[in-house]
Amino acid sequence: MNEALNIAGQTLVLHRHPRRRNETLQAWDSADEYLINYFNENELDKYITEDEQLLILNDGFGALSCFFNEIERTVVSDSFLSISSIKLNLQRNRCETERIIIQDSLQEMTNNVKVVLIKVPKTLAFLEYQLQELSKVINKDTIVVAAGKVDAIHKSTLALFEKYIGTTKTSLAKKKSRLIFSLVDQTEIIEKEIATTWEIERQGWKIHNHANVFSRNHLDIGGRYLMDNLPEGNFIKVIDLGCGNGVVGMAAAEAYPDAQITFIDESYMAVDSARINMLKNFEEERSDNTRFVVNNGLVGFKERSYDLILCNPPFHQQHTITDHIAWAMFNDAHFCLAVNGELVIVGNRHLDYQDKLERIFGNCELVAENKKFVILRAVKMQ
Ligand code: SAM
Repeated sequence: MNEALNIAGQTLVLHRHPRRRNETLQAWDSADEYLINYFNENELDKYITEDEQLLILNDGFGALSCFFNEIERTVVSDSFLSISSIKLNLQRNRCETERIIIQDSLQEMTNNVKVVLIKVPKTLAFLEYQLQELSKVINKDTIVVAAGKVDAIHKSTLALFEKYIGTTKTSLAKKKSRLIFSLVDQTEIIEKEIATTWEIERQGWKIHNHANVFSRNHLDIGGRYLMDNLPEGNFIKVIDLGCGNGVVGMAAAEAYPDAQITFIDESYMAVDSARINMLKNFEEERSDNTRFVVNNGLVGFKERSYDLILCNPPFHQQHTITDHIAWAMFNDAHFCLAVNGELVIVGNRHLDYQDKLERIFGNCELVAENKKFVILRAVKMQ
């Protein structure tokens, strides 16, 4: 697999983080290349000064952050994995750190922007959130260029650029990617609430979801099935791994009143939604006994320390369908569980989680199943 990006006179060595032994996926794509080449050919660097900077939204693994090393820039992402990759690739390519600010997507958007480069994110609602925030900090002289895979750019994508930025056109496709150019001529500032709130009737919980949260419009049916199949026991240290809006951890908070619950996700918006949801739906004392951590799985968590880990594993990383994160989560869980501690997961029937858990834990029990999902339980033996 090629790890060296040769482009516009630079060679960058780029890895995806976390790094896998037999990685098959590159740390950049043709949309990154298209953006870099367009920026270079049109000499957009001449517009950048200390006061009027480059803003990069959703750099996947650091190709853009590293390439523009000479330029004052702010990089924004909702992904802990992307931010970790960006930081490691900056180091790997000996980039200077004085000219770059890295922000998560909940931080206020910088307002000294001259050129904006956007990688179109997977979630349309998240794009809408970002364009709305962007529209508040740009002016008619700001240059806005976005890029994405042809199959990720739809009429609805372009309609959002028209709505929040202004007149929008696209380039020809190159290597299956396309550029989007928006003139900043939309003068009306639109203040639309993009976060959603809905109720889980059975518990009467109101569930808040920031723009980039998994299953933001309704309760995920896999998540619901896991909530309905929590194991019985006196669990004290419990983790909701890949918590999204936090519904599974909330069900655990209800089922195990004395437990300390840790909510973990790699999305800043997910972890913040889980925090809001515990706060809104539980007594103060109960929500005090909780922790909210933005992290890559359980990396850095203590060995043999937890009684129960609940997980509705992810099957995507950005635009790519993959089960390697689920694998990593199961391995992490095995490491962090105390002896006799349990990992309980929900998965689509067709996914091969049972085999994976048997290999890692040496055991795996089918707890429940329906037409679509299975609930699996693996116990840490020693
Ligand atoms: N628990 C929620 C539910 O049941 O509705 C969300 C489940 S969703 C299938 C998987 C979640 O895992 C997503 O919120 C995603 O952001 C998160 N995730 C993906 N990769 C992760 C990683 N490396 N570490 C922690 N969380 C991750």
